[in-house]
Amino acid sequence: MKVVLPDSTELELPDGATGLDAARAIGPKLAEQAVLVRSNGTVQDLRLPLRDGQPVQFLTTRDTDDPDALYVLRHSSAHLLAEAVRRLHPGVKVAIGPPIDNGFYYDFLFPEPIREEDLAAIEAEVKREIEEGREWTREEISRDEARERFQAEDEPFKVELVDTAEGDISLYTQGEFTDLCRGPHLQNAKPIKAFKLTSLAGAYWRGDSANQQLTRIYGTAFFKQADLDAYLQRLEEARRRDHRRLGVELDLFHLDDISPGSPFWHPKGQVIWNELEALRKRENAKRGWVEVQTPLIYDQRLWELSGHWEKFREHMFLIPEPDRTFSIKPMNCPGHMWLYNNRLHSYRDLPLRYAEAAPLHRNELAGALHGLTRVRKVTQDDGHAFVTREQIEDEIFACLDHVKYLYDLFGLGARFELSTRPENRLGTDEEWDFTENALKSALERRGLEYEVNEGDGAFYGPKIDLHIEDALGRSWQCGTIQLDSGTPQRLGCTYMTADNREETPYVIHRALFGSFERFIGILTEHFAGVFPFWIAPVQVRVLPVGEGHLEAASALAARIGEAGYRVDIGEPTETIGKRIRAAEVEKIPFTVVFGDRESDESLAIRERGGDQTTAPLVDFLANLATLRA
Ligand SMILES: [Zn+2]
Ligand SMILES: [Zn+2]
Repeated sequence: MKVVLPDSTELELPDGATGLDAARAIGPKLAEQAVLVRSNGTVQDLRLPLRDGQPVQFLTTRDTDDPDALYVLRHSSAHLLAEAVRRLHPGVKVAIGPPIDNGFYYDFLFPEPIREEDLAAIEAEVKREIEEGREWTREEISRDEARERFQAEDEPFKVELVDTAEGDISLYTQGEFTDLCRGPHLQNAKPIKAFKLTSLAGAYWRGDSANQQLTRIYGTAFFKQADLDAYLQRLEEARRRDHRRLGVELDLFHLDDISPGSPFWHPKGQVIWNELEALRKRENAKRGWVEVQTPLIYDQRLWELSGHWEKFREHMFLIPEPDRTFSIKPMNCPGHMWLYNNRLHSYRDLPLRYAEAAPLHRNELAGALHGLTRVRKVTQDDGHAFVTREQIEDEIFACLDHVKYLYDLFGLGARFELSTRPENRLGTDEEWDFTENALKSALERRGLEYEVNEGDGAFYGPKIDLHIEDALGRSWQCGTIQLDSGTPQRLGCTYMTADNREETPYVIHRALFGSFERFIGILTEHFAGVFPFWIAPVQVRVLPVGEGHLEAASALAARIGEAGYRVDIGEPTETIGKRIRAAEVEKIPFTVVFGDRESDESLAIRERGGDQTTAPLVDFLANLATLRA
């Protein structure tokens, strides 16, 4: 038989040859370094036979960044972990241990509970196994044999897995441990050059809270120690930037079980919010969006008309009254369309752009809530543009230009994804050709690269999802620009055309920050709390050196405040050194120290990050003016 290598050459092999046989036929070095066979995106254990005509790519220990290669490395690491735990904790029962993004875990039922401190000994045991050397062997056995085997080992979870497994049963053995497993696995443990256990957590058997609670040990592994080091550094950096931690440290907001998923905004956090709100209003006004205000609660009838009652009710907070049921709005669209319908419109009115940043409420599961990035109270920088068919492309172009301006202002990278017609859809193929093309041309005209998500559009129209890339290179889905002909139709929106026909307008839904909550969470992490001057909650702090300087320092602060900046005084209750340090921890952009030698003619100014200068007040204020957005 023959298999096909990536460069299209064919390799002649005896029938029944495995991946490892093929690697050996190419060369001993490849055979030694191979970790996996990949064929058109699916992976296969090296020990399994190849098919005639199969395309074959070898992944090796040099594919250190390849997700499939890392997956097999980490899966094998999980098996080493199980072996170590069984040796150190006799009587432990093993459950399952898959690779996951960034690592692996294994679930155990320990006879005695273990603690984080116990991980070091387990990790050392795994490292000893790696040093000693481990090879994996694979065997296929019958279901009965497998059941007997795990019953004899008193591993009830494995017995249950045997009974519910589909297809053939295979076992992998290394050292003293045999696991029920489909694989694939490494040939041996040599490629595992870096191994680390990272944390402990509780987990239910098969993810069901009705079942027994198990202990989950998380870990990770790499082909190179440098990769593990870089990964741990990224984790540490993410922890340092975590907006939930910085939110408390910088006194921005807090969350409380009294209203899950609805942040309490402290004065300093509200400053950031207000600056974003001012930016939202300013740019909307510039770009022809008009502010409106619509109710927060609506009769069930509106949601029935819009389709939300059928599709979205479980996420809506309902308010039952004796004679009718109301709901708090989870989105602004139906309200804006109801407002639109208040009078007749002509084609001359379009595009008509309504903007509103109202609080919306969505009943997210308590377990899914996460800081500011997954909340129940959501405040979108929302807008709905009512347009004619001919206006779609220009309007989308304008929305893209708007969002690019906003993200650039914060130095955020942006990624655009175009979602096209889904299988279940309204409208003809011709119509979809037209709308998809309108979105594509707008993206291309604005010079934006984009990915296409085939079939991911809404049933009434295509959309563009906006993803932010932050300083750590992480991607966050934020805003959306969505074309809709269905909802305006359901709600009976119309306009009169030039030749006096009644037509349904298209509606473009757009939110560019996405939501204020999420956007502020992302900004906090992106800047690690070091906010740009113009949104910093306190922009200048004046520090009188001693009691005797308080009056003059207060007068100075008042003049800076009158010039339009957020300024406060660091009262001399502590040493000047401690107060300078505190201002640094609070990440305040400018600190002005005021003592015997200082006056309006000569201020001692410390910039965030350490630079110190001396300048007269007029020059300082002139410098601040350049930092406004
Ligand atoms: Zn396994
Ligand atoms: Zn909408």
